[in-house]
Amino acid sequence: MCKKVICEKCNGRIETIEDLVTDVIVLSVKPYHEKCYMRDLKGGPGFFLSGRPLNGWAGNIGFIVAILIAMISLVSYKKLAFLFFFSLIPIAYRLYSYFVYEYPLKKFDR
Ligand SMILES: [Zn+2]
Repeated sequence: MCKKVICEKCNGRIETIEDLVTDVIVLSVKPYHEKCYMRDLKGGPGFFLSGRPLNGWAGNIGFIVAILIAMISLVSYKKLAFLFFFSLIPIAYRLYSYFVYEYPLKKFDR
């Protein structure tokens, strides 16, 4: 599967994993060139973009924290069921970003 990853901002193709930034915009995961993402962030800070790329270090730490919260809330599920489902959201976004945008680029790169 050679899926093309297209930048949400300039409609150009994103060639490498190093050039890819993913973020959640209006509840869906969107891919950007790193430059396009930075330019957008400066243009309208924090309106559409979270400013914390899903595939950056902040996204990965958020992912790990969300997994921890999910596990903790599962232990006392009756009290913390809402917390469990809430923690699934960032986990789902992170996995979506990985499988839909990052994984194809990793294979494509070589
Ligand atoms: Zn772009």
